[in-house]
This record gives sequence, structure tokens and C-alpha cells, in this order.
Amino acid sequence: QGQGPRVLYWFRTDLRLHDSPALTHALSLDPSVLVPLWCWDPHYVYRQRGSANRWNFLVSCMRDVSGSLAALNPRQKLHVVRRAPGKVMAELLRRWRIDVLVFEKDTDAYARLRDDEVTSIAEGLGVEVVSLSGRTLFDSDEVVRMNGGKPTMSMNQLVNASKKIGNGIPQKPLETPLRLPDPPEDHELDLSDLDADKVDEGGSNEAMDYNLPQRTLGQKKNTQYETGIMGPAKDFGVPTLEEMGIDPADVTSPHKGGETIGLEVLKSYIENSDYIGTFEKPKTAPTDFEPQATTLLSPHMHFGSVSVRKFWWDVQDVLEQRRKEKKHVSGEPVNLPGQLLFRDMYFATHAKIGFQFGQAVGNSVARFIPWHLQLNYVKGDQDGKPVSDGTYLVDDPQAEEYFRRWKEGRTGFPWIDALMRQLKLEGWIHHLGRHAVACFLTRGGCYVSWERGAEVFEEWLIDHEIACNAGNWMWLSCTAFFSQFYRMYSPIAFGKKWDPEGHFVRRYVPELANFDKKYIYEPHKAPIADQKAWGCAIQGDGLKIEEKGTKVYPKPMFDFNERRQFCLDRIKEAYNVGLYGDDERVLSGEWKKL
Ligand code: FAD
Repeated sequence: QGQGPRVLYWFRTDLRLHDSPALTHALSLDPSVLVPLWCWDPHYVYRQRGSANRWNFLVSCMRDVSGSLAALNPRQKLHVVRRAPGKVMAELLRRWRIDVLVFEKDTDAYARLRDDEVTSIAEGLGVEVVSLSGRTLFDSDEVVRMNGGKPTMSMNQLVNASKKIGNGIPQKPLETPLRLPDPPEDHELDLSDLDADKVDEGGSNEAMDYNLPQRTLGQKKNTQYETGIMGPAKDFGVPTLEEMGIDPADVTSPHKGGETIGLEVLKSYIENSDYIGTFEKPKTAPTDFEPQATTLLSPHMHFGSVSVRKFWWDVQDVLEQRRKEKKHVSGEPVNLPGQLLFRDMYFATHAKIGFQFGQAVGNSVARFIPWHLQLNYVKGDQDGKPVSDGTYLVDDPQAEEYFRRWKEGRTGFPWIDALMRQLKLEGWIHHLGRHAVACFLTRGGCYVSWERGAEVFEEWLIDHEIACNAGNWMWLSCTAFFSQFYRMYSPIAFGKKWDPEGHFVRRYVPELANFDKKYIYEPHKAPIADQKAWGCAIQGDGLKIEEKGTKVYPKPMFDFNERRQFCLDRIKEAYNVGLYGDDERVLSGEWKKL
């Protein structure tokens, strides 16, 4: 047991023990007492959209970390407290007589507000607060500073800024701790006498309290959450899905969470030198499954169960060895380090813009395009910034139907439907698959706002990351980062190029499993007799999946070539008008008359 301060280590974006700058700092203080804490924050539980698949991934990560803590010290575990940090932190710091509060820096808009509040509560009690970057290759705030205080809107800007930080080279990963100090005595840890109502009186609870946009509720309220600060068993246990109001039967993703699994996955790739050395993102097939063509480490990086710096350095070691052996090494940005730099680019942009990065109105880097269907914005209560009121402006009701059919995977374009069904079922699709469905929903067919698509991704992706999701949706819809709107993906030719046999479609749209490959991407063109022989009639809008004992798959919901031309014309017009999200005409709603 150390001789140093009593330390509260607050896990959030860093569910790992390896390469954690914040945890390493906490342990370097030689704590006499260490409490590893997780606050089950209602903002994420109730405010953000989230699928059973993502919650399951998170809970698996929490369980894994808790087990690893216990393996280092049998008295240790992840102490899960079921209250908003802003409400409960003062009480915990006082009761456990904490001297230093340590956590990994989080630059997400909500997290900054929450952390500012918690920091001022802690400092008010005389507690030292230490927050260290570890979620990205480079500290996102530093990147912005080195980019002249501006958001990084291109890879070049990111790379140039990073060169001014560490010569463009991230810090080496830190060692995993080998031992842990004890937590406080059991009687000190016991919070069962705590008056929950009293805790609830003070501090902020969720987005509403910080004047952030009101979003659809994620999960239904759960009474065990409301009452038991230490959990129903009064043991700070990691929550079960049921306690979170989630039916375990809704977990359909095969992808598993946790540092142990994440590091095994990383290792398996690192051992494959040819895979690492020749990786070029545009050459990986979005139609591959079991195994998929890319690493699928994104959910691990989202929850911090794999360190991005370890990923970077393990890959660099392989590349270095290959260079020595004069073997092929692909370059940035298409190689794996390049992918991680894209991630840093979006994190830095989000760090600079704040919560308005995730919305069309008020967003200074997003071109404003008057889509058929988009979120309505009103002035925020406190600072007057625009916030969505959760309603939608619809200038073509047909687009609502397009949106519904896109989300439900019944557009009649098997490539798009297969991807959307894979997304819902498994919580992950390949990057180029995300390209295909995002382009199709926005500028490449439906002409629906990118925000609506981003909401569906927010709900279903297990790797949902506010910065990467909003940034990539803006890229694909040509509202920011990318502007070549005339380059559009065909919902027929794109899939066919990668998978002429249609294996991917057959797997995720099983009603088409028997179709000849000639028709697999355009089943409505198959003769009726063949449709019968192959056991699926192409008719209707996909709401009925069976008719008189025969399977049914819908006809295409529109003529793609017609929609393509329509979108091109409309986007060209919007580009000519040239509004951005923070333009007065957008903020005042005057755009509706333009
Ligand atoms: P790999 O190809 O193995 O890449 C390694 C890592 O690099 C990924 O795990 C990821 O952390 C990072 N990375 C790769 N491409 C990107 C990229 N374009 N932007 C940012 N980081 C990248 N990624 C998310 O992590 N969360 C999201 O919410 C998200 N939403 C997206 C929405 C759309 C519309 C699009 C087009 C892309 C989105 N991406 C998102 C980026 C990308 O598709 C995923 O990171 C990638 O597909 C994850 O699979 P992987 O781990 O196998 O990637």
C-alpha cells in the first residue's frame, strides 16, 4: 500500500489498463487508497440513442476491466455508481476523503460541460483534479491550437498540426500496471445510508441541464437505477442489461467487447504482416463477412478497450520490419495509420466546434443544404444557440417514406437493404458500406438530411462516436470535408463490383438467396416465372414479407437515374447559394424563402 494521496480514478472513455496515461499518472502518485469508479451517467443511459448491441458491448468492457482490476488486487473492482457525476461526485469525494481525482480527457461537447462542473465541485472541496489526453493519437485541443485555433478540415491540416506537437509521431504506449493499491475499507465504501433524494437535489443530471439539444430518449427509465446508488445488490456491481431496461434477447451482434478480446483481435492482425503491410482501405471489400475486410477495432477504440496509440505503434513496428525486409508497405492515408489519423482529424474538429458539429444549423463548417427532410431548430434557452426541438421540416412527404424504407432495409435496392439490415443486426458495417448507404440517403437518391441518417447510426452502431459519425456523414453528404457531389455511388453497380455473385446480399436479404447472380442486385428485372421458381415475388413496398405463402421483396422505391439527376441539380443550386450552418439566413429560418 502506497504512502501517497487518496485517489479517485474515474473510468469513462478508457475501459482498459494498458497504455492509459491517466491511470498511469494516478498510480504514479503512489496512492494510499485508490477507488476505480464508473458513474452510470443518465445522459448516456437515457438521452443518447443506443441499441442493445452497443450497451452489451459497453457492459462487457466494464466487466472485463473490473475483472482485470481484481486480478491485480482481489480487493479491487470497478465501482459502478448509479447517479449522474454532477450529482454524486461531491458526496463521494467527501466520504472517501479523496485528495486527487484523475480521469482521461474527453473533448465531446457534453463531456466537457460535465467535466467542468465536476472539476469545479472537486476543486471547491480542495481536491486536485488531473485530466490527461489518451483517447486520440494527439491531444485534440493541442491539434486545434497548432492548426491556428481552427478546426482541422483536411488530412493535411491534421498532419501539419501533429508535426508541431510530437513531430507527427504519437507517444509510445505505456506499461500495463502490475499491482494496484487497496480501495477504502468496506465500511467506508458502503453508501447504503446515503440519502438518494438529497444527492438528486444538487448538481446537473443530463443534457437538458446543460442546455444541450434535446434528443430522443435512449432507454426507458429503470427503477433500479433511480433508487440504488450502489446497485440492487449494494455492491457497486456492473449493471445487467435488464437493469438498464434492455431485453438481452435484443442483443444480436456477434461482436464482443472488453480489453482482453480487443487486444487479442489486435494481436491477430499484427501477427499477419502481409495484412498490415498491404492494407489499403479503398481496396478492402465492403461485402466481405466472416471475416470482414477491415479490423473491426472501432468499437474497442470507442470504449477505450484498445488504446489507439498501441494500435498505431504495433502497426508501425510491423511496417518498420517490412521496410527492413524490403517488403511492400502501403502509404498514408489509405494504410492503417492513415485510418487512425482520420479519426484524430474528426476528434479535433469536434473539439473545436462543440455540440454544433453534430447538427446542420449553427454549424460553421457545414454547408447548408435544404434537404426534403431535416431537423427543425429553435433558439436555445440560455445562450440563444440553435438547438433542435426534435421535430422535422418536411417539404416532400415522399422523402419520409424514403427515409423509413432506408432505415428498415426495404428500399428495393438489395445492396442498400443488405447493408442496413447488417447494421441493425450486428451493429457494424464496413466503411465503404457506410459510404453507400449515407450517399444514398442524402445526395445520392433520397435527398434526406445527413442528420437523420446520423441519428440511425447513433442508435445502431456499436462504434458510434459523435465526432466520427457526424464528420463522416458531412463528408458523404458533401456538406463538409468533401465537395465532389457529382461523384455518386450507384446502389446497383457499387455492390456488384465487389461481389458479383451476391454472397453478401444473399446473407442479409435471405429472401433473395436463390436468385441468379444476374438479377441479385436488380431482382425486379427477373421474369415472373423465375421469381416463382426462386421462391420470392418482387412486389409492393416491403411491408409484407410474405404473400400467400410466398416470400416477398419490394420493387425499387424509385428510379435511381431520375433521383440522381434531381439530387445533382438541387445540390448544385445549394452550392451556388453557398450558405453555411452559421449564416444568419439559416439561423433566422430565412433560408426557407430562398
Ligand atoms: P479500419 O479500417 O480497420 O480502421 C482502423 C481504425 O481507424 C478504425 O477502427 C477507426 O477507429 C479508424 N477509422 C477508420 N476510418 C475512419 C474514418 N473514416 N473516420 C474516423 N475514423 C476512422 N467510425 C467510428 O469509429 N464511429 C462512427 O460513429 C462512425 N460513423 C461513420 C459514419 C459514416 C457515414 C461513415 C462513412 C463512416 C463512419 N465511421 C465511423 C468511420 C469508419 O467507417 C469506421 O471507423 C470503420 O469502418 C470502422 O471499422 P474498422 O475498425 O474495421 O476500421
